[in-house]
Amino acid sequence: MPAKEVRDGKEITNPYLIVQQLIERACQTLELQEGVFDILKKPKRIMKVSIPVRRDNGDVVNYTGMRAQHTDILGPTKGGVRFHPNVNEDEVIALSMWMSLKAAIVGIPFGGGKGGIIVNPEEMSEREIEELSRGFIRELEPIMGPERDIPAPDVNTSPQIMGWMLDEFDRLRGRNVPGFITGKPLIIGGSEGRIEATGRGVVMTIQEAAKRLDLELTGMKAVIQGFGNVGSITAKYLHEAGVKVIAVTDAKGGAMDENGLDIQALISYMTEHKSVKGFSDSKDLSNEELFRLDCDILVPAALENQITGENAGDIKAKIVAEAANGPTTPEGTRILEEKGVFIIPDILCNSGGVTVSYFEWVQNAMHYAWKEDEVLEKLEDKMTTAFKVVYDMKEAKQVRMREAAYLLGVGRLAQAMKARGWIKNWEMPIDC
Ligand code: NAD
Repeated sequence: MPAKEVRDGKEITNPYLIVQQLIERACQTLELQEGVFDILKKPKRIMKVSIPVRRDNGDVVNYTGMRAQHTDILGPTKGGVRFHPNVNEDEVIALSMWMSLKAAIVGIPFGGGKGGIIVNPEEMSEREIEELSRGFIRELEPIMGPERDIPAPDVNTSPQIMGWMLDEFDRLRGRNVPGFITGKPLIIGGSEGRIEATGRGVVMTIQEAAKRLDLELTGMKAVIQGFGNVGSITAKYLHEAGVKVIAVTDAKGGAMDENGLDIQALISYMTEHKSVKGFSDSKDLSNEELFRLDCDILVPAALENQITGENAGDIKAKIVAEAANGPTTPEGTRILEEKGVFIIPDILCNSGGVTVSYFEWVQNAMHYAWKEDEVLEKLEDKMTTAFKVVYDMKEAKQVRMREAAYLLGVGRLAQAMKARGWIKNWEMPIDC
């Protein structure tokens, strides 16, 4: 497995290798036997499929899809499906491993899964995307199901796509199976609060971090990379918490206003124009410029490998809230930590999404729907508890937040192995 590869002219670090190294280090610190790392370092199952789609012009194109299931020791595997041209096996496996750790940290009975299709959905019509989504489920149906592996939205996938996927699964099984997928539209069993869950969770962790650092959020300045589901909702709730969101970027460009962007107007503009670029009389800016801005909070909410050894030195934020999965390389992390930046690690920061997906799955199993307030109250309880246990681990072991999150996640997976009789004579270092 190459540690580095060049993509779009940029050197990127293989996320599978990064997560393996972090898990190995946690296993060593926790004094776990070698076999535990051998189990956790790779997925239990990975399946690659071909999905032929007839394009609107009559041509047939064969797309590649894949699904990684990391471990089901805590429960059925769970995780999003990404539609992106850069989807690859190592990325999907890494993302499934992060899902296992997230579920363990937040304390929900799921294992880690992740799926993807190598495709640029921007070049497809709605009918073609529907056919692709249904084909993905047809091919993967044998390894999926509400007690087995449960998909959800991720980059470039939406509640509508979850609706098509659910419909295809129901047809294949010949009955209604609402708990097969989460992040689906409300009318077919989705949960109140799911669309907003990840961004809301991100803001809850920022609020917890500010408390620990004795910082007042009101009046702080934030910048956000990525203005899709997670980035835009994070912006909305940061704004509500009194934070000035001064700049955002997306794949096409950026928008900046020193006095704070009008977030509601920006969301409406982005919905119409599919980008934040050109918003009102704001200034356009690149990712490089965004990372250099004078601000208190930086939220990477796009893709992996964005904060690197090359740009981490320019970052001025006091808090980096990793809303995206794997946005910071090990070198980027090292530089930020040396500068004293407080990193809220991805496997804690963005775990609000899987948490409300869990609530959706529970509601589907009960054939009952909670009101939004009830979902939010439960989300807040899970996020603040998860933040507290990671922080307690950091204090107990005198490590940084990322290492603490891995110690907690890996430790809880090891606790499950012990409960299943796979390992003996081992104790979790802190009571949690
Ligand atoms: P999305 O497709 O809704 O949005 C992605 C955003 O990133 C878009 O605004 C896109 O333009 C932007 N982007 C892509 N490449 C970029 C680049 N090079 N520079 C700047 N911006 C770029 O996806 P999302 O669901 O918001 O997911 C974003 C991140 O959050 C991903 O890492 C995803 O895995 C993670 N995440 C999502 C959820 C969820 O519930 N959706 C949960 C946990 C983690």
